[in-house]
Amino acid sequence: MSEAWDLVVIGGGSGGLAAAQRAAEYGARVALVESGRLGGTCVNVGCVPKKLMWYAADVGQALREAASHGFDAPLRGPHDWALLKAKREAYVGRLNDIYAGNLERRGIRLIRDRAHLAGLHLVAAGGELLEARRILIATGGYPLVPELPGAELGITSDGFFALERCPPRTAVVGSGYIAVELAGLLQGLGSAVRLFARHDAVLRRFDTVLQEAAAASLQEAGVELSWHSVPSALERRADGLYLHTRDGAVHGPFDELVWAIGRLPASAGLGLEEAGVDTDEEGFITTNLYQETDVAHVYAIGDVTGREQLTPVAIAAGRRLADRLYGGMEGRHLDYSNIPTVVFTHPPLGTVGLSEAQARERFGAGVKVYQASFTPMSHALAIHKPRARIKLVTAGEDERIVGCHIAGPGVDEALQGFAVAIRMGATKRDFDDTVAIHPTLAEELVTLR
Ligand code: FAD
Ligand code: NDP
Repeated sequence: MSEAWDLVVIGGGSGGLAAAQRAAEYGARVALVESGRLGGTCVNVGCVPKKLMWYAADVGQALREAASHGFDAPLRGPHDWALLKAKREAYVGRLNDIYAGNLERRGIRLIRDRAHLAGLHLVAAGGELLEARRILIATGGYPLVPELPGAELGITSDGFFALERCPPRTAVVGSGYIAVELAGLLQGLGSAVRLFARHDAVLRRFDTVLQEAAAASLQEAGVELSWHSVPSALERRADGLYLHTRDGAVHGPFDELVWAIGRLPASAGLGLEEAGVDTDEEGFITTNLYQETDVAHVYAIGDVTGREQLTPVAIAAGRRLADRLYGGMEGRHLDYSNIPTVVFTHPPLGTVGLSEAQARERFGAGVKVYQASFTPMSHALAIHKPRARIKLVTAGEDERIVGCHIAGPGVDEALQGFAVAIRMGATKRDFDDTVAIHPTLAEELVTLR
């Protein structure tokens, strides 16, 4: 057995890295075990490569609109997917190296292996038993593939990032974040995309204004939307993949089919049951507000806990945990309310707080809604003019803002500031009293009547 560590972190993704580094900054002796590439899902097969491709699709859109702004810049030939992929991978590779350097600089020992709990205070990894005063599980998750005949013929978001070329015809199954983001950027980069959703909307957990905006912008971009389509089988024929749906219909041919129907926790094989760490029926580790599991010295953060599956959430939970355990900040924990999030469609969708439906459920008649829909000036001269949509949901006599939902260019950057204001308890009056920045899209939020 090796020497004792203050903290052993299992998983070097967004949450694990953040917690390990913050703990080490306070002087804790930290070891981190990572079985794959440092940076985890976000850096390697998530936010980072996705956003780079989203930017690429954005550039394509700008080029297609160039003539309407007086530029003689026709697109000559198809997009060079291989070049984009190579540059994207080089960038991600640089990030992997930077993360390894960051650990080294803070004196964190990195063990590259798959770890599991091997005793009350023991983690087995790299052929060693690491003795740990505290253990943090930050193992993230993986994409769900349905149990259907032929399902293995499809790919997931992981397979999407491995594609060597843009599939000419792509089916995307699902209606959440990944389905709409990948559908949008694949279409933008030259694929003919058809999205299959079980119900009659995408992003059903979001406010209806964003559901409508997402569906409209995907359709305007050329994505075919197939509603009420519940997959029953996937089949390969000579000319491509065919998706069977429960209504008896057969759709295809497609060159690729992407399953984007949610993610499961990477909690199997960790020895949780033997250690007495509780999980729910899907395998997500049960934690309280302080990221504590049922076992006193074992903690869990990030996607493996099944709360908001977002990088900044995993990071914030990990940093706050380290602040509390090693930084003397008693009681510090992540407040999971009012977490802002953006869906990277074209244009992007931003949301923070409650949807109108959630607010009405919680506050009843005390809810007042302000909204607007307009063509943003950025698209005034363009051929395609996706409408921007804004909705502010307020509650109570002082009209405190409890929900903010925006679809439009630049929203991915604008939302952060509004999230600060809403977290601080801003009212409609505060928004009204804030002088607008003109001409922008975001000014509409402080001029709504
Ligand atoms: P992860 O980042 O998944 O890290 C877990 C790490 O643990 C992995 O590196 C894994 O190899 C390692 N591991 C697992 N088991 C073991 C073991 N037994 N031993 C050792 N190591 C182990 N979020 C956003 O906020 N914005 C976005 O734009 C965004 N886009 C996304 C796009 C896609 C396609 C996907 C799939 C996700 C996206 N997310 C986005 C979500 C985000 O990536 C995750 O919420 C975030 O990565 C979770 O961090 P984590 O630390 O919990 O887990
Ligand atoms: P989501 O949970 O966002 O969406 C999955 C959706 O797929 C479900 O809501 C459901 O919608 C539908 N679905 C579920 N099961 C089936 C099925 N068997 N057949 C057909 N459809 C099904 O999961 P994602 O995989 O899109 O993303 C995982 C998580 O990663 C997200 O929740 C998010 O937290 C994170 N992420 C964040 C991003 C960002 O911040 N921009 C980007 C990408 C991912 P319905 O009930 O309507 O059918």
